[in-house]
Amino acid sequence: MPRTLDPELRRALAARIRYYNEMGIYDFYRQPLSDRAGEVPISVDEAEIAISTNHPESGEEMSPRKATAVAMPVAIEENIFEVIALKPEQSVSDPVQALKIIREDLGDCTRCVLHKQGRKQIVFGVGNPTAELMFVGEGPGADEDAQGEPFVGRAGQLLNNMIKAMGIEREQVYIANIVKCRPPGNRTPEREECATCSPFLMRQIAVIKPKVVVALGAVAAKTLLAMNASMMQLRGRFYDFRPAGVRVNDRSNEPRWDGCKLAVTYHPAFLLRDPRQKGEAWKDLQMVMKELGMKAPQQNT
Ligand code: URA
Repeated sequence: MPRTLDPELRRALAARIRYYNEMGIYDFYRQPLSDRAGEVPISVDEAEIAISTNHPESGEEMSPRKATAVAMPVAIEENIFEVIALKPEQSVSDPVQALKIIREDLGDCTRCVLHKQGRKQIVFGVGNPTAELMFVGEGPGADEDAQGEPFVGRAGQLLNNMIKAMGIEREQVYIANIVKCRPPGNRTPEREECATCSPFLMRQIAVIKPKVVVALGAVAAKTLLAMNASMMQLRGRFYDFRPAGVRVNDRSNEPRWDGCKLAVTYHPAFLLRDPRQKGEAWKDLQMVMKELGMKAPQQNT
């Protein structure tokens, strides 16, 4: 049965979370203490709080963003993280309006160095604001920077084909990137750039409330999941995903959204370089289609 947190413990946890926020740590994970689930009440001393440190496996891996693991008894349903302030878009129910608010909040962004490294414009995201399926890439390339829309270049053509193969149209999904400004020379965005920009994407996801997010490539997967692993380790399964740093279910008149599934597949640009992996990517998309109850159209070959 759900239990209420002891007010003293709640205050202490809130203070601790604020303290971590001030140190730049925003992602918190619950670790069920299943062996303690039946004990009430728990005291401040009993609430174990530990910082998790990931270790990159190879030079190729991104270094992890700061994250903290808060060990919590599983039976406590109350949201102790309500110290995370409501975002301005959460006061409106129309997702188009809500996305506009996020875009306005982003403004002519100068939060990271990408703004002074040759970007032409911010590439916010495109598609159905109530999409069941969302694709998240790495960052705009030259074509996207020129047109202000994600995935419109060669990789975008392939993504469009992948979406078509699933039996749906590009307009039915929502497409965005981890960083909204083009990294110079199409370099991989730095961890700091991802950490600065991704909160806006998290807010977009919380507005759209998809059933499934597909992370395209390692940068998207590692940033969204705040974990460091190889593509081989990341693919082939679903993750339970909730956008970090955003409170959900604050509007009692709206259907509950407790996050969604997240799947990882290869980035279309990688598939252009190594088309032999397309079959593997198709397996990932079939897994997604099954989750969404979709059937692939008949191929006319
Ligand atoms: N690659 C990405 O990751 N995103 C785009 O929008 C285009 C290419």
